[in-house]
Amino acid sequence: MKRIAILGSTGSIGTQALEVIAAHPCDFSLEVLTANENADLLIKQALQFKPNSVVIGDEKKYISVKEVLWNEGIKVFAGKQALNQIVESTEIDTVLTAVVGAAGLEPTLNAIKSKKNIALANKETLVVAGALITETARKNGVNIYPVDSEHSAIFQCLSGEWHNPIEKIYLTASGGPFRGKMREDIISVTPQQALKHPNWGMGQKITIDSATMMNKGLEVIEAHWLFNLNPKQIEVIIHPQSIIHSIVQFEDGSMKAQMGLPDMKLPIQYALSYPKRLHSDFLRFDFLNYPKLTFELPDKETFRALHLAYVALEKEGNIPCAMNAANEVAVSLFLEGRISFLEITEVVEECMSNTLHIPTPTLDELIQTDIESREKAISIIQR
Ligand code: NAD
Ligand code: MG
Repeated sequence: MKRIAILGSTGSIGTQALEVIAAHPCDFSLEVLTANENADLLIKQALQFKPNSVVIGDEKKYISVKEVLWNEGIKVFAGKQALNQIVESTEIDTVLTAVVGAAGLEPTLNAIKSKKNIALANKETLVVAGALITETARKNGVNIYPVDSEHSAIFQCLSGEWHNPIEKIYLTASGGPFRGKMREDIISVTPQQALKHPNWGMGQKITIDSATMMNKGLEVIEAHWLFNLNPKQIEVIIHPQSIIHSIVQFEDGSMKAQMGLPDMKLPIQYALSYPKRLHSDFLRFDFLNYPKLTFELPDKETFRALHLAYVALEKEGNIPCAMNAANEVAVSLFLEGRISFLEITEVVEECMSNTLHIPTPTLDELIQTDIESREKAISIIQR
């Protein structure tokens, strides 16, 4: 029985993780749920799963959550500090980080320091502080299991191959809703158009990141830290059907791919159940429904965010952190209709080039870089 905490249980990954847990009551027990604002859904989830504790980020909602859950014997906490510290509870074995954005950094670091294994969906944490996170995990003997479908695919391909060096990996990308478009075609796309992902239903931020291809850029950096690869060993290939989730190429030229229908419940389940594979009722792939699996090179000129992520990875230090913070701000400004689609990447690029490079930043310096980059992004759009 693995005792699980879900950070961000009300989101896309969080709710799918709860489906996985509900389907395997003998394998998992749910101990902690956290959410930022959605108190109604958090209460509903807590009443169904009866965790030990819940945390609601928005302190104004504390009383309403507590009123309902108190009678059930569920502990209720509120606020940022509680969101970050609940992972220290001794009742947890594995923490699923399904929070969106750099807000995942502090709780993930605290979870690692308290020796909890991590099922990592929150890729931004590795982008912002990959060196610090992987080093702290190594020191504490903590495993980080990838939830992101591409990284789960790589992890699955590496099973039984631990002594065999990787020559390179191919991260597959659907290309998002604007695949094949030129810059002039996407100048005036609306948030509504950008939120229509062809293959995956996900939270708003990652869906916009998929449309700009920043998501794949973040995943390149995530892969660098998870699998200890240099930038030249990480290639991105567009695969519009999203059936092959990624590929490892070994030194003898052999390539292993992991495939299946696009369904995040599978990588979530694998990260939680590893090293076991549990039975599932997920839809099975049928070759005849996909007579053609196709591949294309990414267009890094139109989708410059992917290029910027490689630049950030080469520079390392605090530059990926600056890139991520600017991107988080730019995506939310785009969703609010305050900047255009192409301006998302322009804001990110300008913030990156105005960031003072710190080669080996401390946690405080990363937090400072994050704050400053957010401020820069705002000031750029207010000009
Ligand atoms: P989402 O927006 O649907 O959910 C985010 C969750 O985080 C919610 O429960 C919300 O309450 C919580 N949250 C938001 N801001 C917070 C804050 N400041 N502090 C604490 N909690 C906060 O997002 P999602 O699509 O589920 O994505 C979650 C993470 O998983 C992201 O890092 C994303 O890149 C990654 N991921 C998602 C998918 C997917 O299919 N959705 C696939 C791969 C990776
Ligand atoms: Mg992914």
